Amino acid sequence: MKVSDIYKNGGKSLSFEIFPPKKDAELNNIDDTLDVLCELRPDFISVTFGAGGSCNCNKTIELARKIKDRYHVEPVVHLTCLHYNKKEIDEFAGVLKEAGIENILALRGDIRADIPEKDDFSYASDMVSYLKGKYDFCILGACYPETHPESENVVDEIKHLKKKVNSGTEVLLSQLFFDNNLFYDFKERCSIADIDVPIIPGIMPVVKATQIKRMVSMCHASFPERFQKIVDRYESNKEALFDAGMSYALSQIIDLLVSDTDGIHLYTMNNPQIARRICEGIRNIV
Ligand code: FAD
Repeated sequence: MKVSDIYKNGGKSLSFEIFPPKKDAELNNIDDTLDVLCELRPDFISVTFGAGGSCNCNKTIELARKIKDRYHVEPVVHLTCLHYNKKEIDEFAGVLKEAGIENILALRGDIRADIPEKDDFSYASDMVSYLKGKYDFCILGACYPETHPESENVVDEIKHLKKKVNSGTEVLLSQLFFDNNLFYDFKERCSIADIDVPIIPGIMPVVKATQIKRMVSMCHASFPERFQKIVDRYESNKEALFDAGMSYALSQIIDLLVSDTDGIHLYTMNNPQIARRICEGIRNIV
């Protein structure tokens, strides 16, 4: 199933992001996580992609295959392009096609000093055009309610996003954020620019103090005062931070749902209890 079909006739999605475990041995433990996540019947599960690996030893594809074949849930495979050439992207596409995987989150990937860039793709939109010209995948793309860290201004950022959508991106998944107003403002900018594909907000319940610091440096997400107060108060109390972080995320999600958002994409951090608590919290909310 193509993810874009979900939104036809006003449908909404609930989806999860997971990442492949770093060590091969842990790949088996992911089954316990998938057992819970898939029992919650998400519309799709997206699997992150680490740049620099080859197609044959790619854990992302292995995990996506498992999600599809064993759990019968639709996988979305993240694929970055900055460190690959067309031949390598063709190789990935071929493996995905063979596995019956129909959805790709097409990403540029981060600029990294340790992996040389290749010449074929400079931006995600380059890979979107390439894939759309050759294959029949449903293409999703990334977007940034607080703008991408490399962007100089919001106007250019929206122009580039419009180009990515015009190249064939059918659904946008957002970077995480803690202030819904930033997402609503971003959606308004998209609407002014006639970007009319579903824009799915990415929500990460923050339940660990170490995670908070990493999030700030990685994603440049700003903290509203209400959230900052929770962090300051419960940073050193694991259980309290878990409860408060979950409640905060739930209040964000409910506000998004009553504001006619097209869906919710949950950054699970491979913690099935997070997904379970969120699903319980919105069980009767549509
Ligand atoms: P692009 O859309 O190419 O944008 C990158 C920057 O270039 C932006 O500042 C944009 O405004 C600018 N730009 C775009 N087009 C042009 C143009 N034509 N001219 C000039 N400037 C332009 N990374 C991973 O490595 N693996 C993952 O699995 C992964 N999953 C992600 C999932 C989500 C939902 C999100 C939001 C991000 C994810 N990332 C992942 C991170 C992502 O790779 C980085 O944020 C990366 O720096 C940008 O990728 P992009 O696809 O958004 O790039």
